[in-house]
Order: sequence, then C-alpha cells, then structure tokens
Amino acid sequence: MIVTPATSPVIIIGAGLAGWTTAREFRKLDGTTPVTMITADSGDFYAKPSLSNAFAQGRVPAQLVSTPAVRMADTLKVTLLAHTEVQAIHPANKKITTSQGELGYSQLVLATGAKPIRVAVGGDASDQIRSINSLTEFSAFHARLTGSGRKVKHVLIMGAGLIGCEFANDLVGSGYDVTVVDPSPAPIAVLLPRQVSEQLRAALTALGVTWHFGVTVKEVRGAMDNQQPINPDSTVTPMQVELSNGHLVHADLVLSAVGLKADTTLAEAAGLICDRGVLVDTTLQTSASFIYALGDAAQYAAGSWDADGAVTGGRTLPYVLPAMGAARALAATLAGKPSKVVFPLMPIVIKTPALPIVVAAPATGTPGEWRNRETDLWQFLDQQEKVRGFVLTGNQTIRRAEQAKLTIA
Ligand SMILES: Cc1cc2nc3c(=O)[nH]c(=O)nc-3n(C[C@H](O)[C@H](O)[C@H](O)COP(=O)(O)OP(=O)(O)OC[C@H]3O[C@@H](n4cnc5c(N)ncnc54)[C@H](O)[C@@H]3O)c2cc1C
Repeated sequence: MIVTPATSPVIIIGAGLAGWTTAREFRKLDGTTPVTMITADSGDFYAKPSLSNAFAQGRVPAQLVSTPAVRMADTLKVTLLAHTEVQAIHPANKKITTSQGELGYSQLVLATGAKPIRVAVGGDASDQIRSINSLTEFSAFHARLTGSGRKVKHVLIMGAGLIGCEFANDLVGSGYDVTVVDPSPAPIAVLLPRQVSEQLRAALTALGVTWHFGVTVKEVRGAMDNQQPINPDSTVTPMQVELSNGHLVHADLVLSAVGLKADTTLAEAAGLICDRGVLVDTTLQTSASFIYALGDAAQYAAGSWDADGAVTGGRTLPYVLPAMGAARALAATLAGKPSKVVFPLMPIVIKTPALPIVVAAPATGTPGEWRNRETDLWQFLDQQEKVRGFVLTGNQTIRRAEQAKLTIA
C-alpha cells in the first residue's frame, strides 16, 4: 500500500547511475519537493563499470556496493520503493501503476536502463547462457565461478566488443580459460582502428585468450550424463558449444556480451516516441509533457523528431559520463530552470589492462580515416583533415585531456 504525499512527487523510475545521480543533483537545487524513487532491484548504489574488472581487483559482489539503498534514500531525502516494478505509465492523468499500487507524479523521470540483447541460439542448454548488466546478474555469475563444489574453469564469451573484451581480460587474468566468439574480424572492431584491434587481440592472446572470429554461436548443448569434465581443474560437466562453421568448443559456462538495447517497454506502451531508445529533446523531455528520460534508456535526439513522430536523428550514449551530464541538466529542469544538455567529447576508457586503451570515436557516419600519428596515438581525420576522434594505447593513455582539446566533438 503506497502512502501518497500531499503534493505529487517527482518520481524517478530506476535506481542505477542515471536515477541516483538525478536525485542527488536535484537535491542540490531543491531540498523540499518530495522525490520518490521506484526500482525493481534493491536500489543499492554501485559502479556498474566495476563489474567487468572485479576479479582483477579481488572484490566480491558485496564489496562493489558503495552505498546501501537505505543510506542513499536517507541522505537524499528520497522515498525509495525498492523491489517494486512500474507496470504502466498514464501520461494523460500523470499517474503510474506499480506492483504496489497507483501513484501520481508531478514530473516523471525514466532511468530504466537497457536490457541485454538476446541472439537466437539453438540447443537444449541455450537457456543457460548468461549476461551481465546488473550487480544481481554479476553476483550469480560470480557465485557460479567461485562457489564451492561447482568450480567453473572454462568460460566462453559471445561478443568481442568492449564488455566482452573487458570480461575476457578480467577472467583470463584470474586463472580461467577464456574463449571469445564474434562474427566480426577482430576485437572491438567497430570502435578501434584495425591495427589497435590487432594489438589488443595479440595482448589478450598472450594471456591465454582463444578467439573464434567470423563465426557465431549456433547451438549450446547440455552435458551428457556420461561426460566428464574436460579440464582437470573443473568440477562441472561441460556444455558443448557448436559454432556456425561447425567447430565444437567445450565450455563450463557461456556468457553473452553481444550488446544492450535501451529498455523502452514502459515508454512504448504509454505511447511515447521511441526508436533505439526513448527519444528525448535537448532538455531531456520525451514526446510527453512532464516525462523525461536519460541514461541507457534514452536516445538523445537534439530535438529531432517531426510532427508525425518520425525520428530524424539522435544517438544513444550508454556510458557513465553522458548519464552524469544529462542528470545535471535534468535536475535543473526538474527544479524549474529548463536547461539543455550539452555533451562534450567523452573519451571511453577500455578496462583491458593487457592493453590499456582510451578511445574517443568519431560520430557514426563521419567520413574520414584513422591515421597513426605517433607510437600509440591514432587520430580520426575527416575530409578537411580535422581531428574527429582519437585512440591512445599503453602509456600514452595519460594524454587523453590533451587529445580531447584537439578533437572536434
Ligand atoms: C559490465 C559493464 C561495464 C561497463 N563499463 C563502463 C565503463 O568502463 N565506462 C562507462 O562509461 N560505462 C560503462 N558501462 C556502461 C554504464 O555502466 C551504464 O551506461 C550505466 O551504468 C547505465 O546506468 P542507468 O542508470 O542508465 O541504467 P541501469 O544501471 O541499468 O539502471 C536501470 C534501473 O532501472 C530499473 N528498472 C528498469 N525497469 C524498471 C521498471 N519497470 N520498474 C522499476 N524499475 C525498473 C532497474 O531495476 C535499475 O535500477 C558498463 C556497463 C557494463 C554492463
């Protein structure tokens, strides 16, 4: 049973980085307006990027929580409805339906994040493929790898993108056998110049990672009763993974890291315009009044949808820095000072200690080419020879501020 405050609160759906940062920034500007945060998870505050380097840092899942939910709620004077699912939004009467009842809002923030993309895989054990986009999922994965009596030795990772490579580095560095499967020709191929991809591939291979490029996972089949662990260190029976070229790989666990898709379920059902994410304008407002979106859920469109709702641009920015910048701008808007978000160049740090990389990729579709300017420094030059992106590797990664200044976002 929900107790409704006298004044309809600002409601934030989602207690990830985007939701909590919005609450914190809002409280800096407005200490009194009631704020209710609703989240399907526990609401504990943790840094999601630490999920893909926790093993190297020797941290167990409980140590990744930086602030428990109750303390966050107390500090920010937020009413927290944890383990509560929002089931529907009713923009016409400014209400939402939750698993605990109905609630009215003055302003609504969608910080509902993204969902792992599931690719079609056959086989009787395909339902055992795991993905990691939350502390809960990581806890289950960690327990499976480290739990007594069920020791996993060999992890097969689907996807050689940023997250797949980070997990590959973390796991191989912690003594696990790692195989990575990806249809592309090299790791993190969409973000990096080919030579840097090859350097990363070589660095991870040297640690023991096995790669299968140009193929996909076709089937994951369960262990037969009479199968024995193939690896002497493993105490679980392996799964048999068939690749699209017919090659068979035995693995104790299959982790899918093929990408995320903005969670637009609620927004779409409420009639909000969505494309690759919930579409927002430069003030982060969705196509419905009093409803805003940010973080992994949003598609930042810079005001670009027409009267018929046709989307004419926009980008998803599923990273920490854009979410924090968006939260600051949104907090001001929620506090009565409509503010536009402006995203500066935001380089991404790829957490692969085998080859540290910082990348500021050019906007999708920018014509031009990567050029190797110095050892471990690449720049993306457009047709007017202007710098539109850069990649730094190894010791050069400390030069990111200098390169960011030279780069046109
Ligand atoms: C392994 C990994 C490593 C990463 N590393 C980096 C990195 O190094 N650098 C970087 O910049 N970014 C990194 N990222 C991306 C970054 O972590 C995300 O962009 C960011 O955490 C997204 O935050 P969010 O609040 O938008 O979404 P989420 O953290 O997904 O939060 C969504 C929230 O919405 C709630 N929710 C959803 N639907 C409902 C509903 N119907 N009812 C109630 N609650 C709901 C969920 O319970 C959750 O609390 C990484 C991501 C992963 C998975």
